[in-house]
Amino acid sequence: MSRVQHRPLDCPACGAEHPATLFISLNARRLPHHVAEIAAGDFEVQTCAGCGHRWQPEHRMLLSWPERRLWAVMLPPDQRPRAAALERAVLDLMRREFDAAPDLVKPRLDGNETLLVFGQQALAERVRLAALGLDHGAVEHLKLDLRDRWAVASEADLRLLGLDDDAARFAVVGPAGVERTAALDRSAFDAALAPAAVERARAAHPILFDAPWCDARRVFAEGGLAR
Ligand SMILES: [Zn+2]
Repeated sequence: MSRVQHRPLDCPACGAEHPATLFISLNARRLPHHVAEIAAGDFEVQTCAGCGHRWQPEHRMLLSWPERRLWAVMLPPDQRPRAAALERAVLDLMRREFDAAPDLVKPRLDGNETLLVFGQQALAERVRLAALGLDHGAVEHLKLDLRDRWAVASEADLRLLGLDDDAARFAVVGPAGVERTAALDRSAFDAALAPAAVERARAAHPILFDAPWCDARRVFAEGGLAR
């Protein structure tokens, strides 16, 4: 089921208030065109009637995508410092949903991937990875190397934009938006996503594979590495 909320938003550029409709929950099976918008980074884009500024409002939303066995809870990026507590809450929420489900659908719920993401751009990347059938943890593990190689600042995110025949395209996203793009040879990307490499990655950093908040930056934040 999908639910929306109507509420006024203030333009972040000029402060003008205007009405908006934001999703609280979104079922990907029922509304595939919205899933395409999320992947493209166009989901819920607002245009200010006063100054023309365009932005994506940050808010709480649950995306369920049964075909991809994915549940993703999106929260505003400013809540990332509380990630550990929020992650426990997300797990509790999913456990309650699971317990309340009729026996008939339980086998389908079992084995779903539950993700916690902070911000519209993080959700966009998760949807792109799910659509490509890529392992979220393996991609985040690859980012540990790429962040070093491309000297990504500690407050910036690296987001996979897409795959071409010869390259995997990434964006470096800082607090103010996309700073630059970078490309990795497709052969190197595919090697990092090969089953044996994924198993080694899982053994090295299980937190990227087993926890809802699947984000290379948590490995740095939680003392796994020195930057
Ligand atoms: Zn405005």
